[in-house]
Amino acid sequence: MAISRADCQTLDEQDPLKDFRDEFTLPPDVVYLLGNSLGALPRRTAARVGHAVESEWGRHLGASWNTAGWWDLPQTTGDRIAPLIGAGPGEVLAGDSTSVNIFKAVTAALPLRPGRRVIISDLDNFPTDRYVVEGAARAFGDYEIRDIGTVDGALNLDEALGDDVAMVLLSQVDYRTGAMHDIGAVTAQVQAAGALMVWDLCHSAGAVPVDVSAADLAIGCTYKYLNGGPGAPAYIYVASRHHQDVRNVISGWHGHAAPFDFEPHYRPADGVRRFASGSPPVLSYTALNASLDIWERVDLRHLRAKSVSMTSLFIDLVDEMRPGLTLASPRDADRRGSQVSYRHSDGYPVVRALVDRGVIGDYREPDIIRFGFAPLYLRHVDVYDAATTLAEVLSKELWRDEQYQRRLTVT
Ligand SMILES: *Cc1c(COP(=O)(O)O)cnc(C)c1O
Repeated sequence: MAISRADCQTLDEQDPLKDFRDEFTLPPDVVYLLGNSLGALPRRTAARVGHAVESEWGRHLGASWNTAGWWDLPQTTGDRIAPLIGAGPGEVLAGDSTSVNIFKAVTAALPLRPGRRVIISDLDNFPTDRYVVEGAARAFGDYEIRDIGTVDGALNLDEALGDDVAMVLLSQVDYRTGAMHDIGAVTAQVQAAGALMVWDLCHSAGAVPVDVSAADLAIGCTYKYLNGGPGAPAYIYVASRHHQDVRNVISGWHGHAAPFDFEPHYRPADGVRRFASGSPPVLSYTALNASLDIWERVDLRHLRAKSVSMTSLFIDLVDEMRPGLTLASPRDADRRGSQVSYRHSDGYPVVRALVDRGVIGDYREPDIIRFGFAPLYLRHVDVYDAATTLAEVLSKELWRDEQYQRRLTVT
């Protein structure tokens, strides 16, 4: 191998982010490369949630809506996510799932471009994004979805954009391949055509530094690289220049201008707060905020440097062993998020064999093996160990074992 395990140890000793690993509870003897699906558990989370349960809920009960800041959690949490995506204070609201926020974002964007009836959507996008766009287009009638795809990694947006396009929804980082769009360039191109740009940041926030500030709207989740916990609140970003004009179609009381006046009719709250709908899942916000305490101290330039170093190392190591895998991620680090994917016709049993040996990746149809590299808790030695285990599974064909062939419910 071009680089030894000892070299990796040296890299880890010099890593400015090395102390963050201690912030997380990781199972022993496991290389966890699924932080792009469910982030690891921060050590501080259990105590924080325990306090919220026993003291805020158990002892202070409903008073905690005021005294523990429960009522404002969607906004205060959103303001803590904002710096991670290049948004300003008051532009991000945390809540609901990503899917629900996609619906809110799409249905908020469309009326801003009356007369334009086309939504551009990416065929390679995560299915829920596409499903929700279909649902929104159906519910609001008379919208056409124009699908685009990538040709050699580049979007064919040029042909699709016209003066009939109201909005474009894209993921900055592709969930299968980790390919990353240039947010600034694509946003400028879309806006030059008079359309609104909505970004999905699910595989970006906490993986790469993001500057969403030129975009119109964005959404993302917090249970992947942001380690907010299973089902943690997602978020919506709305550029402040649109705040006066956007509407939340799920116009619930939490987004009302004066919720405790209990007026018979809806009046939207100022700013991004109007995108709140119903009561927030307080315990999930508490877990997310425990993780955001950690994120507050992370220098995103260090995060990116370490991510590039680890993903490039993994690609180099796998290149060397030539195990019959095809790289599905961009080789150019500038065009790659914090994930490396390969194609293999027996990808599913390969992943099962890896998991059995403590290397946790996952599989996505039709033939993609994914490895996420969360820079806060992974080390270069983990990258080395994962690559050597992968080499062994492939060279000895360990994946052919009968037990790895059967599909589990969640792949
Ligand atoms: C993970 C992910 C989602 C998840 O949506 P949920 O509603 O949180 O389940 C949506 N879109 C993309 C691009 C994702 O990567």
